[in-house]
Amino acid sequence: MLAAAMIAALAAPPPTVTTEPVPQPLPQPRRTLDLPSPEVVVVLAHPDDELVFAPALPVMAREGLSIHLIFATDGDQGPGVSGMAPGADLAMKRRMEGFCSGMALRVDIVGPLALGDGTLGLRANDPQSAANRLAERLKPYLADAVTVITWGPDGGYGHADHRMVSAVVTQLVQAMPAEKRPRLLYPALINTPLPEPLASQGWATTAPDLATVRYRYTAADLAAANKAAQCHRTQFDDATRAMIVPGFDAAVWKGEVAFRLAF
Ligand SMILES: [Zn+2]
Repeated sequence: MLAAAMIAALAAPPPTVTTEPVPQPLPQPRRTLDLPSPEVVVVLAHPDDELVFAPALPVMAREGLSIHLIFATDGDQGPGVSGMAPGADLAMKRRMEGFCSGMALRVDIVGPLALGDGTLGLRANDPQSAANRLAERLKPYLADAVTVITWGPDGGYGHADHRMVSAVVTQLVQAMPAEKRPRLLYPALINTPLPEPLASQGWATTAPDLATVRYRYTAADLAAANKAAQCHRTQFDDATRAMIVPGFDAAVWKGEVAFRLAF
């Protein structure tokens, strides 16, 4: 989940920031576009995690890349603003919100994996742990990917599920031989200082020189991201949903979504 309160201050004027110019390569698929497997696989912990880099997905879709988005959990513990008890009903609602967001962003949602919100970091070395089950489910998916996107080691603001998804995906990709290994990208917040409340919530930043992959988005991409944000009705109230994407555009992304290569 995204920290619900993170949005509130994003509408504030962005701080003056100077960053070094960095090359902005677009994705370069190594394989043809007619494969049934997706070229881009995005692995995240909860429906709404995708909002942190949402405009990059329609950019990739416009380039003709097929994109699959996998949520490890349904976010069944995060009541957000729903007032719902954690559990199956909330899981179903959030699953549908994830589908809604995927449609807006022109990506296919794969799953559900439904591994249990808040469980990915528990007893991780147990063969039957959620983390190990996640690894088993992901393996075939990553085999033919050209680009894989997941949380960085920071998990955005340190959420244990986010960090574990990052660790599992990275572990799988680092074991793949060079000729099969996809490009692994972590979203990077590079424009510092971060606005409040992101800074006080512990959102991590990445040095701009490491964030060498940038997706410059258009107004249409931003509109798609905004449409995706409106899907997550259980997590954010109307005013917050209206501010998420405009706030990130003005104070965090500033015209391009940045990623760093894992290796
Ligand atoms: Zn999350």
